[in-house]
Amino acid sequence: MLKPIKRLGQNFLQDPNTIRRIVDSLDATPDDVVVEIGPGAGALTHLLAERYPRFAAIEIDDRAADLLEAELPSTRVIRQDILKTDWQALAVELGTERIHVIGNLPYYITSQILFSLLDAAPLIEEAVIMMQYEVADRLVAKPRTKSYGILSVALQLACEVNVLFPVSRNVFYPKPDVRSAMVHLRFPDRPSPDCSDRAFLRQVIRAAFNQRRKTLRNSLSRLLTDDMPDLPADIAGKRAEELTPDDFVDLADYLLGRPA
Ligand code: SAM
Repeated sequence: MLKPIKRLGQNFLQDPNTIRRIVDSLDATPDDVVVEIGPGAGALTHLLAERYPRFAAIEIDDRAADLLEAELPSTRVIRQDILKTDWQALAVELGTERIHVIGNLPYYITSQILFSLLDAAPLIEEAVIMMQYEVADRLVAKPRTKSYGILSVALQLACEVNVLFPVSRNVFYPKPDVRSAMVHLRFPDRPSPDCSDRAFLRQVIRAAFNQRRKTLRNSLSRLLTDDMPDLPADIAGKRAEELTPDDFVDLADYLLGRPA
């Protein structure tokens, strides 16, 4: 048994039914490459290694990696910070163009992991991930709601998001302070064309939501350069939460002088 380290977000799954349900949520065949984020003491890992011969796990805690290598000698355990993972290099190393991702995420870096998956979107087929219930709620939030924000817009533009099921605090050791949910992300084979300048699009989304109480005229003022057109009149007086994800793409393209 591994002594949980709070700083690493270690809340280990204990319940075999929940574990099976999570692994069953993957839509992968035995030929596919599956990568687990944060295997920890191996709650999901044993079943994953059994089902998927081309499986690998990425873990930052050497104690956990040692344990897994001892228990599953033919499994590839990569000792690495998931936020420093080069998904392109990993895909090449594992001999695939598309990776199936699974993980009971360390909650202290959930958003950062989500953004790293978005950056690697063309290389990801799907992601079955556990996160705080409140974050899951934000991912699927609709415009004009309190939960709608940067994550909702960024995720909904990049992939199909589904909240699969809630997960009780009682199935973990130690019990987390927050409620949890499983989420499924499916990335399209060919990303739909959105804003031609993704970095700028993300800047627009961030600036708009960082001051979400202000109108876009104000929240975006610092982002707009002299060579950009004025905001369209019907947009300028709105607030970030009133724009759909597609509206943000159109707005970014408009500001860059590109047709929608
Ligand atoms: N998968 C196990 C389970 O379900 O019982 C453990 C899940 S625990 C919530 C999160 C895991 O992520 C821990 O094993 C932790 O060590 C690992 N972890 C934390 N930060 C990490 C990072 N930056 N990179 C890779 N793994 C990390």
